[in-house]
Amino acid sequence: MCYRIVSQPRVDLHIHSNRSDGFFSTRQIIDYARKIGLKAISITDHDDIAGLEEAQRYSQQQDIELIPGVELSAKFKSFDLHLLGYFFDPRNPQLNQYIEFFQQERLRRARKILELLKNHGIRLSLDLILKKSGQGSIGRPHIAEAMVEEGYVHSYQEAFNKYIGDGGPCCVPKYKITPGDAISLINQAGGVCVIAHPGMDISDDGLIDLIKLGLHGIETIHPRHTQQQVDHYREIIQKYQLLETGGSDCHAENKSPVMIGQFNIPYLLVEKMKARLGRQK
Ligand code: AMP
Ligand code: FE
Ligand code: FE
Ligand code: ZN
Repeated sequence: MCYRIVSQPRVDLHIHSNRSDGFFSTRQIIDYARKIGLKAISITDHDDIAGLEEAQRYSQQQDIELIPGVELSAKFKSFDLHLLGYFFDPRNPQLNQYIEFFQQERLRRARKILELLKNHGIRLSLDLILKKSGQGSIGRPHIAEAMVEEGYVHSYQEAFNKYIGDGGPCCVPKYKITPGDAISLINQAGGVCVIAHPGMDISDDGLIDLIKLGLHGIETIHPRHTQQQVDHYREIIQKYQLLETGGSDCHAENKSPVMIGQFNIPYLLVEKMKARLGRQK
């Protein structure tokens, strides 16, 4: 007997662009994803959605599906979480208002970090950091890069290890949304909210709490999840009838060597997301 194996089209739902801490521009990501034959992708920048409309226009020209995405920084009990939003309307006013507020908070935080660095003899101008972050989210990676460029440290990693890493002398905590608010925000914008890489960030009890708060799905496929973790989260997905997502979490450059599409999921799971939202194809 002869079987014809029809392989499922693949998708990568977790990719960072240079609007947050990724290396590639949104256009480069779309070009690459098309080249390797992905059917759909989502660019999920940290707390930033401003690049999505232009990316959507470009992806339509290139005939690859771009699912609106974002990765929100959230805090729940003692857990620092990353919550992924998918399929929301990028023009939704409340969502844009929140992103704007968050960007202002990041700017305030960057100013504070620069002040603390001054106490250690490190003088960097805010303008330089703003130039590095471009139009995207201003963050510690931009400060670390500037420290290397200006010769205050030998490497990007040294900047984190000595000064701005979590708990370091010049680290200022970032504003974070609560999961309840994140879920409502994404919901009212027409999307679904999924926890990113839970294996890195949260206990099972915490995860169940989030599910009770209305979390829609769990990211199972992620470079830092073991097969055991993938299987474990699939059981939870089954039990609570949740959505399953996954992707490469590609940042590219030396920050993370994983490339776009290297971790992927079948398009079938995207169809399930659409079905949950009551969307046509
Ligand atoms: P921020 O959003 O400004 O807090 O920056 C978070 C980003 O900084 C992370 O996504 C990493 O890319 C980078 N980062 C955080 N901690 C470290 C660390 N200890 N070493 C290297 N990079 C780090
Ligand atoms: Fe990141
Ligand atoms: Fe993340
Ligand atoms: Zn990510």
